[in-house]
Amino acid sequence: MSNRLNGKVALVTAAGQGIGRAIAEKFADQGAKVIATDLDPNKLQGLRAKLRKLDVCSQDDVEALSRETAREFGPLDILVNCAGYVHHGTVLNCSDKDWDFSFDLNVKSMHRTIKTFLPGMLEKKAGSIVNISSTASSIRGVPNRYAYGATKAAVIGLTKAVAADFITRGIRCNAICPGTVESPSLGERIAALSTETGRSREAVRQDFVARQPMGRLGTAEEIAWLALFLASDEASYITGQAHLVDGGMAL
Ligand code: NAD
Repeated sequence: MSNRLNGKVALVTAAGQGIGRAIAEKFADQGAKVIATDLDPNKLQGLRAKLRKLDVCSQDDVEALSRETAREFGPLDILVNCAGYVHHGTVLNCSDKDWDFSFDLNVKSMHRTIKTFLPGMLEKKAGSIVNISSTASSIRGVPNRYAYGATKAAVIGLTKAVAADFITRGIRCNAICPGTVESPSLGERIAALSTETGRSREAVRQDFVARQPMGRLGTAEEIAWLALFLASDEASYITGQAHLVDGGMAL
């Protein structure tokens, strides 16, 4: 327990598992009042936070939560947009539905939350927004990450645009680009690929490890440390950048 975020109000999307959960835990450890949200509220159990269901694809949900948090906590100091989904495949097996869903969940969700929560931050003349992008984006082309890479590149563009528009009004907006990170959904992707290809789960897993020059996957906590830094006042001169925490994947 320390106090790097003492008294700050932080909302985290997709905090039920993986990177979002690690960020919510880290922020609570550091003294923040955390509003931990997820599409599946059962996954939020055990977090030291205000727990709320939030579907980031629903404008009504986002607005209802914003009214509720404004009453209870006032404006946010920190917004972490973590919700995202991996479409596996190339342009040839990406349907319009896959493309639209990927952009709705990975990018438009951030448009919704930022548009809704930013006015409160502007009133306060302070706020840090952290958007979770990926090394698979405009940073690096990765096989079978066609729609995913396009959405995560859009997240970097959105991040820079918000940073530029509000740079004189106390708002910082940064993106984090993780490499391959151990998480429940990665486990599901490994299981699905193993079934699809007939290869063992361990062999499929090794393909993911092989993308990482350090010879191992990252942990969600390693991403949370960077989120903590960017969210905190320690990063007060840092805005509009895509920050890699990828074990050298982009080298
Ligand atoms: P995950 O994919 O295991 O968990 C995602 C969470 O999002 C789940 O708790 C799920 O219930 C929630 N969710 C799904 N749809 C939602 C919706 N509509 N509204 C709100 N919540 C919803 O977690 P992860 O793998 O740590 O990924 C988190 C973020 O990090 C994603 O944006 C992902 O693209 C990004 N990322 C992950 C990796 C990785 O290797 N795991 C690498 C780079 C970037």
